[in-house]
Amino acid sequence: MSVEQPGKLIVVTGPSGVGKGTLISLLVQRHPQLKISISATTRQPRPGETAGVDYYFLSKQDFEAAIADGKLLEWAEYAGNYYGTPQAGVTEQIEAGNYVILEIELAGARAIAKIFPDARRIFVLPPSIEELEQRIRTRGKNSEESIAKRLQIAKQEIAASKEFDFEVINSDLETAIAELEKAIFA
Ligand code: 5GP
Repeated sequence: MSVEQPGKLIVVTGPSGVGKGTLISLLVQRHPQLKISISATTRQPRPGETAGVDYYFLSKQDFEAAIADGKLLEWAEYAGNYYGTPQAGVTEQIEAGNYVILEIELAGARAIAKIFPDARRIFVLPPSIEELEQRIRTRGKNSEESIAKRLQIAKQEIAASKEFDFEVINSDLETAIAELEKAIFA
């Protein structure tokens, strides 16, 4: 463990469907010192998602117990479900010199900024709202109601993008990755 050369906490925020997950998994493949924090959520798994890999899928009761026991670094309610970052491991990974990536929504990003003022905060923007809606629809498994909710939240989140240290537009994948690399490693 190297305390003299600690790692970093990287917060990646951006509207649902903007492609944060794809960008981050490509980055992690290329840079093994990047570690993704696996969040807990009460939402149902989407087809293809694996428990303990994509999320820890918890019941509402278990999530509320985790909050009460202080096991979450931050948590937020998003489109009718809870999402939160488990405390365990995050500080240890940073002290071990790794870069821990939190892929979280706006309220969580704001909470983390208070707890970890040195965290590097990045906002991923879609090329346009129309393109974002298209991406949310093609990802599937979201009801019309959930799509509408996600789009409404997206507009509020995009309005706050200037609070972040870096803004990256996810239009061309390789360009977006190069910009993220600059933001993370600069
Ligand atoms: P999705 O349901 O599309 O996987 O995620 C919905 C939103 O919750 C996304 O904006 C995602 O970044 C955010 N999210 C995922 N995990 C966490 C977390 O641990 N904390 C917070 N605050 N937001 C999260």
